[in-house]
Amino acid sequence: MIVRDVSQFRGTFRICFGIVGMALTIMDLRHIAEGGLKPDVHGVSIVIGCLSLWLLYAGISARRRPPMIRIDQTGFHWKPQTADALDVHWHDVAGVTQSGKQLILRTQQGPNHTFKLSGADHSSSRIATACLSESFRAQGRLSVRDAIVAAPPVLHCEECGKETKQLKTYLSYVALLAQVVGTISETRVTACPSCIRGSLYKFVLINMVTMNVMWPIVPLPYFLYHWINSFRSGHSPAIVDAIEEEAVRRLTT
Ligand SMILES: [Zn+2]
Repeated sequence: MIVRDVSQFRGTFRICFGIVGMALTIMDLRHIAEGGLKPDVHGVSIVIGCLSLWLLYAGISARRRPPMIRIDQTGFHWKPQTADALDVHWHDVAGVTQSGKQLILRTQQGPNHTFKLSGADHSSSRIATACLSESFRAQGRLSVRDAIVAAPPVLHCEECGKETKQLKTYLSYVALLAQVVGTISETRVTACPSCIRGSLYKFVLINMVTMNVMWPIVPLPYFLYHWINSFRSGHSPAIVDAIEEEAVRRLTT
């Protein structure tokens, strides 16, 4: 598994905006050539063109740099732009700690390795999750997520309160098809399979009336997808995500 540094994602965004900007500039230049634009618009086109070129250059440079963080089955590989690269192998790692944007790999012997993570918090937590899961796999254990899927914890249905190992969740809505399609209410339902099916029947019947001709195209496939999922074993992926995040937080603090 490889986790790329957020600067790589920024690079992709810059390239996309650069391409859109260049397309707009080329369209403007064609208008100018045909005498279709006023002289004061020429300046704006030149500024957009220069900015787009810079975005393309910055985006391509960011994409060409090797990722600062790479996490795979062998270990954690750190390659900052201004310091020496460091490879930490999983057999040396005794534990993973995350404190804010700092990731600490505790070693079996020798000093611990501290890394300053960049980017948004969700990216940092993804990195801690990957470190923990890959180090567990290297020790012959199940990753955090695989352990949750293999032995789903018992949770309570939010509707009837019964214990279940198959907690399901979906976003129930009532949409109105008038002159425009609009959602008039949205509720997340998290419940055991029988309660979720009850909620899904209500959802599909109400939307049959409110969505009329759009019913077979939008609410019906959505209903079928969640109805079939309600028969599958284990918790919904969104529930597993939340349990995994909590487990990683507990194991890394
Ligand atoms: Zn229930």
